Order: sequence, then structure tokens, then C-alpha cells
Amino acid sequence: MAQRPEILFPLFKPVTTLSGVGPKIGALMAKVTGERIIDLCWHLPAGLIDRRFAPKVAEAPEGSIATLTVHVDAHAPSPNRRLPYKVRCSDETGFITLTFFNARADYLKAQLPEGETRIVSGRIERYGAERQMPHPDWIAKPEDAHEVIGVEPTYPLTAGLTSKPLLKAIHAALRQVPDLPEWQDEAMRAHHNWPLWREALFAAHKPEELVDLDPNAVARQRLAYDELLSNQLALALVRQRTHRTRGEPLEGTGVLRDAVTQELPFSLTNAQELALGEIAADLASPHRMLRLLQGDVGSGKTVVALMAMLIAVESGRQAALMAPTELLARQHLRVLEALAAPSGVRIALLTGREKGKARDQLLADLADGTTQIAIGTHALFQEGVTFKNLGLAIIDEQHRFGVHQRLALASKATASSGDTNTLLMTATPIPRTLALTAYGDMDVSRLLEKPPGRQPVDTRTIPLARLTEVIESMRRAIETGARIYWVCPLVAESELIDVAAAEDRAADLRRRFGDRVGLAHGQMKGAERDDVMAQFAAGDLDILVATTVIEVGVDVPEATVMVIEHAERFGLAQLHQLRGRVGRGTGQSTCLLLYAQPLGETAQARLAIMRETDDGFRIAEEDLRLRGAGEVLGTRQSGLPDFRLADIEVHQDLLQAASDDAQSILETDPELKGPRGAALRILLYLFERDAAVRYLRSG
Ligand code: ADP
Ligand code: MG
Repeated sequence: MAQRPEILFPLFKPVTTLSGVGPKIGALMAKVTGERIIDLCWHLPAGLIDRRFAPKVAEAPEGSIATLTVHVDAHAPSPNRRLPYKVRCSDETGFITLTFFNARADYLKAQLPEGETRIVSGRIERYGAERQMPHPDWIAKPEDAHEVIGVEPTYPLTAGLTSKPLLKAIHAALRQVPDLPEWQDEAMRAHHNWPLWREALFAAHKPEELVDLDPNAVARQRLAYDELLSNQLALALVRQRTHRTRGEPLEGTGVLRDAVTQELPFSLTNAQELALGEIAADLASPHRMLRLLQGDVGSGKTVVALMAMLIAVESGRQAALMAPTELLARQHLRVLEALAAPSGVRIALLTGREKGKARDQLLADLADGTTQIAIGTHALFQEGVTFKNLGLAIIDEQHRFGVHQRLALASKATASSGDTNTLLMTATPIPRTLALTAYGDMDVSRLLEKPPGRQPVDTRTIPLARLTEVIESMRRAIETGARIYWVCPLVAESELIDVAAAEDRAADLRRRFGDRVGLAHGQMKGAERDDVMAQFAAGDLDILVATTVIEVGVDVPEATVMVIEHAERFGLAQLHQLRGRVGRGTGQSTCLLLYAQPLGETAQARLAIMRETDDGFRIAEEDLRLRGAGEVLGTRQSGLPDFRLADIEVHQDLLQAASDDAQSILETDPELKGPRGAALRILLYLFERDAAVRYLRSG
């Protein structure tokens, strides 16, 4: 088993092993920086204080930060708690008073003994005629002047943690930093003027000027590139391993696909054919597939997934489709059973809801190959589930799964049969930069074209004050046969409160429209909710009031109206997903975004974009712009890596370079065996990509 190299051991010790860092400070620092020495190293300054300005007392201007050498004349303890303790000081040019609130006299007497000379540094203020320095940042003996006079970095802090102990701890941490072999390409390093790693780290912690804090200052840029390279190299290793694992080529006979195609109520779009062609080619090759199928909401990914699964079944293998929610899994089952009926394949559903005997039977059918296509939630890949010969695993709307789940899945799939092919499907158009950080340079198929006959959704923004009018217009819509989604937001801390709001809205609409109004939310029992969804899909309900449970993937082509209450509370990606529930058939669809006034600036921008475009890529990019990359999709939810040193908005070019770099590294040294390879292994461990190192033959 691969292990962290010894040279890095000091960096991964807890901060409390540093001298002068006790458990209390350690705990505080764990909140801001992390608990290990390496976390302190990665905690870069956010600003600086220039303490080089060392004027005479009379020449220290009000408002400036100054470092003064003064004679301590006399202490004047405060007469009461509201007045400060004062220490009068002077030099040959004038007087200055150091002031302290809530002072401890004995401490100050020791720090500033009367009759001696001290260096003090802090902000100069004026109080009436008196020059003051309230709570100097530094008090030092003249022989320690070098510790004070200079440029002092300032760090992001947390309540209870002040800059001095943090500064001390960081200095102590930096003293533990070993010299590491250089992993960057020399030509590239020279080209960018990058310092060696250790020098870069020290320089980043020792800014001299404001420009040194710029994310593209050479020291910071180098550290950011190190982090991006470790990310890209780790992903490239996973990919290399996936590709290298040979498997049985799945060519398929075409029999099942032909049977399904003949009965398909539509013909595939060019985009679908193209994507399917790419997938079929991957499956027919002896290398394992790892491909992302990206297509905006409503672009028709499901049928592509079905055809891909049929290829596996035609080749005598099983296929599995995993959905992020129970609701979606059941919908997939319904849709796929109908579409696949002419082929006669045996499809089964496995979610957390199946229990007891029924579950045992399902598991037995999966294990002996009776079930050819399995649909389900993550329950599909849990302990105790075995496939006879899983050839293809498809993960739908996979951005909803975290990295860990995805890895667990991939390894589960691998363990189950060694050469399982993987297809990830996502509706959320991930901008290229984000895709790169999350997947590396993985194979991507895009459904850029939507099925024919789709009309753009007529999107309007309406203040909530006009709710009554909106409800009246629903009456007219229902009369013309429309089916309506009415979405209430999930925002309160407690989902129960939100559910109550949705229940109220449903009750209100029932009073007006009778019992053809249904309600679906996350607190309902799964079976109950499925029931409501099925009624809506079958046309037994005119209005479906729902919380965001319908956000992802729900497909009822006959629904043509989407009302979103408090649209200002939703993010752009979410609004786009919700709107994507309509406009899926050939009818003209409408989306009403109801908002509460007054509207904040960002919310206003979001709603304007929604009115302007239904292009998922454009929306994703605007989202990125409005919210910042880390926040798009929610870092945790999306499984995107959290960078400590790199900022993928600022460092987009570096990211691309790191991706290219990682590829050329593995082309020349696939097992990282050369001298640079050895250094790169250390880089991987430094950024805790330990898992990736295990993909190497000799780790
Ligand atoms: P998504 O990509 O969002 O998962 P779906 O696979 O649910 O989209 O497809 C959306 C709707 O479009 C479904 O009702 C599906 O039957 C329909 N559809 C898919 N492909 C085509 C096509 N080529 N022509 C017409 N309708 C299609
Ligand atoms: Mg879908």
C-alpha cells in the first residue's frame, strides 16, 4: 500500500506539536486554518501592515501606522473603568501617550518599565491636543527592533484568535517546512519566473508590497499551480488506470436496439445519434469507458442511456442506472419499462424502500443475472449487492453525488466485475473550468440540440403582490387543458416550516380549483409522493404544488406551466432546472417567476437572465459570474474540489496548463518512475491525493 513519504511527516503533525501552540489556540486555529502544520502553511496572508515607517514622535502623522522609539516617562493608572490606563512616553521631539482599556497594571509595568526605552508600533491618533497610540500592536526592547520594523503580513482570523499567536504559529510552522525535490518542469518554471517551492511558500508568507498579495504574484502563482497540477495529475492517473484496464469489448448485436427503435414514438436527434455513436465506440473498444454525457434539461439523455444499456445487454452483460433520488429512480423505471418493452429485457428497481423478502428476491435476480437492467438509487451499489456481470454503470444527474459517493460507486462497480464501463450524465452544464477540476480531461459527449418542436418557454417575472391575478390566470390555463407545477421554495431552517407553506398554498388552490390539486414534498412517504406524481403524470391532477423535490429530472411532457413562488430565493442553476420541467413537449409553455419586493441586485440580475435566455451554458456562465466559482452548484453538493491556494476564476489559464502538463507527464512517464516522477509523487502526497498514488503500479 502506498504511503506518505517520510519527508512530509513534519507537515502533517498537529499544530499543537509546535512550541508555543497550546490546545486552546490549536482548537481555534482548527476553525480557520485546519489542525495540521500544513494547514498553517496554506493559510496565506490577506493583507499587510507596513511597520517600516519609523518617524520621530513629533513627525508621526495622525492616522498613520508608525514604529516609534520612545522613553517611558510615567504610568498613570486609570481612575475608573471607563477611562484608559495611560503610559506617557517621549523622545527628543515630543510626547505621546499610550492608552490601554481594561489594562493589567502589572503586565504593563513589566512591558513598559518607567525610565527605559522601548519600541512601540501602532496607529497614531489624536485626542484633543494629545498624541496617542491606543493599544500598540508591538512593544519591544530596542535590541529586538528588527522583529518589529518591517512588513507584517495579516491573516484571516476568527473570533478569539488574534494575529500575534497566529503569526507566531505560522512562523513556527514554516520552520518545519522541508526542502522538497522540484516537481515543476524547469523550462516552465523559468518561463513564469517561479521560485522553488519552499522559497515560494516563504515569499507568499512574507509580502513586501501589496502587489505581492496578488493571486498572480510569482510566489502565489507557483503555489496555485502546484495545487492545480496535483489535482489534474490525480485525475489523469485515475483516467489512465481506467483506460488501461482491459475489458471485454461490448459490441452488441443491435437486436434489442432495433426492436426498441422501431416502436420509439420519435426518432433520435442528430445529437443523440452522435453521442450514442461515441458511447458505442467506447464500449466496443477493449478499454474501459469513462465518459460524461452532458445535455441541458430536456435534451433527451434518458433514451441515450437506454440504448447504451441495451448494447451491454446485447453483449450478454448487465447494466445499471443510478439516479440521485428515489423519485427519479421510479420515474426512470416507468419511462424505460415503456420504451424498452419491445425488446423484452428484464428491468428491476432497487432502492432503499425495497425490504425483506422482496429485496432478497431482487438481490438474487441481480446476482444470477435474471435482472438485465437494474435501476435504482445509491442502494444499487451498497454492501451486499452483487451483480453477475455488470458491464455498464450509468450515473444520472451525477453532480448531485459527492466525490466520495462517486468514488465508492466507481470502486464498487470495478469490484463487481473488473471492467465495468462508466457513463456519467448531467443536466447541469458545467463550465469547462469546473469540469476540468472535477473530472480532469475526461471524454465528454454533449447533446447540444434539443428534440424538434420544442418552443422556448415564455418566461415572465411578476411581483408576488399580483398573486391573485396569477391564480386567476391559472383558471384560464386549466380550462384550456394545461397542467401546472407550482413550486414553493425550501428556505427556512426547518423543512417543516416550508412544507407548511406548501400545504397552505395547496389548500388555498384547492378551495379555488377543487380536488384536482396535488401536493408533493420531501417529508412525504415515498410511496405517497410517487402516487401524487403518477396522478399528475396521468392527467388526474391539474396542479401539482411541490417543494424543490421536482427540481431534477422529473418528466411530464404535458405540463406546460411552471409557477415559482419567491423565485428570488432560488439560485440560477436551480431556476433553470425548475423551468426545464416544462417546455418538454410540443405545446407552448409558460414560466412565471413570482418575486417579493424589494428585489436585491443579484436577484434582479438572476431573474433578468432567466427572462433573456434558456441556454443552459450561458446560464451556467452567468451563475459563475454572479456567485463565484466555489459556490456554483455548492462545492460540497457538486463534489468539486475545494482549492486552498488556487482560485479557479483567477487561475483559469493555469488550470488548462496544468491539465496539459499532467497529460504530457503521463505520456512520457506513466508510472512516475523518473526523477521528476518521484518529485511529482511527493506533490501528490503534499496535496493529499494519496488515493491517486495507489493507481500507480509501484506506489
Ligand atoms: P433529460 O435530458 O432532461 O433527462 P429526458 O431524457 O427526460 O431529458 O427527455 C425529455 C423529453 O424529451 C422526454 O419526454 C423524452 O421522451 C423526449 N424526447 C427524448 N428524445 C426525443 C426525440 N429525439 N424526439 C422527441 N422527443 C424526445
Ligand atoms: Mg434526465
